[in-house]
Amino acid sequence: MIAQGLQEVEENICQACKKVGRSRDEITLVAVTKTQSTSIILEAYEEGVRNFGENKVQELVDKFDHLPDDIHWHMIGHLQRNKVRQVVGRAKLIHSVDSLRLAEAIDQESAKRSLISDILLEVNVAEEESKFGLKIKETLPLIKKISTMKHIRVNGLMTMGFFSDNPETNRKIFVDLKKLSVDIATEKIDNINMRVLSMGMTNDYQVAIEEGATIVRVGTGIFGARYSG
Ligand SMILES: *Cc1c(COP(=O)(O)O)cnc(C)c1O
Repeated sequence: MIAQGLQEVEENICQACKKVGRSRDEITLVAVTKTQSTSIILEAYEEGVRNFGENKVQELVDKFDHLPDDIHWHMIGHLQRNKVRQVVGRAKLIHSVDSLRLAEAIDQESAKRSLISDILLEVNVAEEESKFGLKIKETLPLIKKISTMKHIRVNGLMTMGFFSDNPETNRKIFVDLKKLSVDIATEKIDNINMRVLSMGMTNDYQVAIEEGATIVRVGTGIFGARYSG
């Protein structure tokens, strides 16, 4: 089951890379395992997957503590400051930083543990009220503030598109996020790099790759439909 889903996604990633002349090595597939059991995650692990994404802190903690320690866990969901303590040291990359206060909390917790936390800034490109994330024009000013923090490293940007069956729906959003990352990179700010663009989910990861994604976050495309609980 999972082997088949993975193979399909892998083929699609390769196809998208080929279409725009990118190398497969530029893209990291994060298998999104929210609501999935540890036994299902282990199946994907046996197939060679090492990057997994969770959107809830408690699930990330439980799975981190029970699964092999060569897994890279990605925190992809909204993060509250009072839960930062549980995520720092467990998440390889936090995709969802969207405020100065959250960045400060991560910096402080990382300092306590003598760590440097790798993060992305979440941008609400569509500027939808219901979504988390920074407005495009808030992103550079926040990055400048974060650049002085010694225990955070900004590696790029993340966005959530719309849920849609049409893969083209979010193309413009991906183009705009890429453009923003290029604009920020040209500023050459200390301690900031724009190597990572986390964008694209099951319905549109191929389009995201065409537009420059370096991380795609795929759940249902690998594991099938989730129980919504
Ligand atoms: C659930 C989720 C995904 C994966 O969604 P699918 O449509 O199942 O691929 C990607 N990113 C985030 C932030 C998510 O919460």
